[in-house]
Amino acid sequence: MTAVACALCGRGMKKRFRVREFEIVRCDRCDLERVAEMPSDEALAQLYASGYFAGGGHGYEDYFGRERAIADEKARVRMDALERAGLSAGARVLEVGCADGRFLLEAARRGHRVCGVEWSREAREAAVEPVRSKLVAEMAAVEGTFDVFAAFDVIEHWREPESALARVRERLRAGALVAVVVPVIDNANARWWPRSWDQYKPPEHLWFYSRKSIGAMIEKTLDAEVLSIECAWRRPSRVINVALARRGLLARAEAAVWTALGAARWMDPARLEDSALLLARVRSQR
Ligand SMILES: [Zn+2]
Repeated sequence: MTAVACALCGRGMKKRFRVREFEIVRCDRCDLERVAEMPSDEALAQLYASGYFAGGGHGYEDYFGRERAIADEKARVRMDALERAGLSAGARVLEVGCADGRFLLEAARRGHRVCGVEWSREAREAAVEPVRSKLVAEMAAVEGTFDVFAAFDVIEHWREPESALARVRERLRAGALVAVVVPVIDNANARWWPRSWDQYKPPEHLWFYSRKSIGAMIEKTLDAEVLSIECAWRRPSRVINVALARRGLLARAEAAVWTALGAARWMDPARLEDSALLLARVRSQR
C-alpha cells in the first residue's frame, strides 16, 4: 500500500494502530488521523442500510424513540451556541446528516427556515413536520444558499470530507455560521491507549480529528474562521467506563479521580473530552 497523503499538509501519514482489519494512520504535524484504506460503496451502503438508527448492530439503539429526548436536548444546546455566535433572525439553516431532523425542528421552532440532507430513508420518514417536507436525500438536491451549515456527528463518517465540504461551501453565503460536532482524539483514552477509545470505530468513523485538525479542516474547506471550540460531550471516567464499558461503583470512583485531576489543573481538561462543538464563520472576502 502506498503512503496516504495527509488531507491538510500533503505529507505521508504514518501507521498508528489497527482496529480489526482497518489500519489507522496519522499526521503528527496536523494531528489528523484516518482509516488508511477506505471501505467500498457496497460496504458503506450495507452499514447504513435499514436498522442503523434502530439497533441494527451498528449506530444507534433506538434513535427515534428513547434517544430522541437526548437529541432534543442537544438541539437546544447547539441552537443556543449559534445564537450566542450572532445567528440572525429568520436564517436559512442547512444541516447535512440530519437524521430525523430534531435539530432542524428546534431551529424551525425558533423561526428559522430549514433544509436537511439525510441519506437514510428510514431517518427521513421518522421526521415530523414542518421538517419532514424539507428533507432531501443528497447534497445535489439542495437549492439556494444558507446562513448556517450544521453537521453533528457526521463529518467523521465521510470518506472524502474535503470534496463533500467543498460542495457545502458552494451553498454558503459570505458570513455564514458553521456548527460542527465531531469526536475528538484529544482525550486520554485516544492519546494514551487508543484501543481503549470506543470512538475508533471504523467503518462507521473513518476520520479522527482533534480540536486542532477539525479546525484546520473547516478553515481550509469552507474558507472559514474558527470562532470557538467547546466541549460537546465529556464522559465521567476514562479507563473503566470507556475501555472496559463498565459502570457502577468502580467507574464512579474513577470518575472522581479524573475530575479531581482536572479540577487541580494537573491535566488539560481536553483530556476528558470525547467530542467537541466547533463554531466558525465563513469569510466575507472571497
Ligand atoms: Zn498533515
